[in-house]
Amino acid sequence: MTENLYSPCRLCPRECGADRSGGVRGRCGALSTPVISRAALHMWEEPPISGTRGSGTIFFSGCQLGCIYCQNREISRSPDFGRRVDSEGLAEIMLSLQKMGAHNINFVTPTHFMPHVAAAVDIARGRGLSVPTVYNTGGYELVDRLRRLEGKIDIYLPDFKYSVSALALKYSAAADYPDIALRAIAEMVRQHPECRFSDGGIMLSGVIVRLLLLPGAVANTKLALSRLYSEFRDSIYISIMSQYTPPPGMPPPLNRRVSAAEYRDAVGHAEKLGIKNAFIQQRESAEESYIPGFGEEFIAGCPQHGI
Ligand code: SF4
Repeated sequence: MTENLYSPCRLCPRECGADRSGGVRGRCGALSTPVISRAALHMWEEPPISGTRGSGTIFFSGCQLGCIYCQNREISRSPDFGRRVDSEGLAEIMLSLQKMGAHNINFVTPTHFMPHVAAAVDIARGRGLSVPTVYNTGGYELVDRLRRLEGKIDIYLPDFKYSVSALALKYSAAADYPDIALRAIAEMVRQHPECRFSDGGIMLSGVIVRLLLLPGAVANTKLALSRLYSEFRDSIYISIMSQYTPPPGMPPPLNRRVSAAEYRDAVGHAEKLGIKNAFIQQRESAEESYIPGFGEEFIAGCPQHGI
């Protein structure tokens, strides 16, 4: 399973058909061996994900979506930035993070390495991994690919970046994003129809959808809230994020942070709709420090299987 899904690669809705195993890079820029830029405990996810001890994040380099304002561009635009690992190495990293106290194992931007992620979860479960797994994605996913993760992923943490096709085209060259992401979220909800938490409030399974509010695009977020609530009601949680940090050289309106008025407008709309299951971010989180440094922390895992 691990190799053949990479060649020709149709792992994501770009469906490039690139022969990644044969050394050809697709739109995501990745070849067929996972590259990890960071593996560490992370305290800045939603409270039931980070908990008190941190989420065991594993950041994959490269990305198929390529948003012009990417908040993780240091790694998304550099598919070779970091360490190469195989499924065994990935499983050992997961076990190391669990040993450090991670509440969960959080795969960040994993879509283009989905076959390795699935195989590594199986290996790690066989070796004692007991914490939940989190699939932390931009939301641009194919339903039949997500079905392969059923039973392996406990928590889905997708973005719903765009409800407006023109904006998806302009910022991510993906006019089909709104419909594709909604179908993907529906599949995630099919796999986990309700959110479950431990007595201590740590998430065990379910779906949290993230809405990163973009400057000048509050209408996009409000429509996203309406569509999500009309489709999924209280079976999901929605996280409304204010942390957008403009990368250098962005054109207006992406060259500024989200204003307090814009954020209030989005949150007010969620309240008006009657959304109860929402995470609202403190405005102080809108700092560059919210974005983790890459290449700074790395769990050794199993040196045998690092490449
Ligand atoms: S994962 Fe990468 S190579 Fe595969 S279809 Fe998507 S962009 Fe293309």
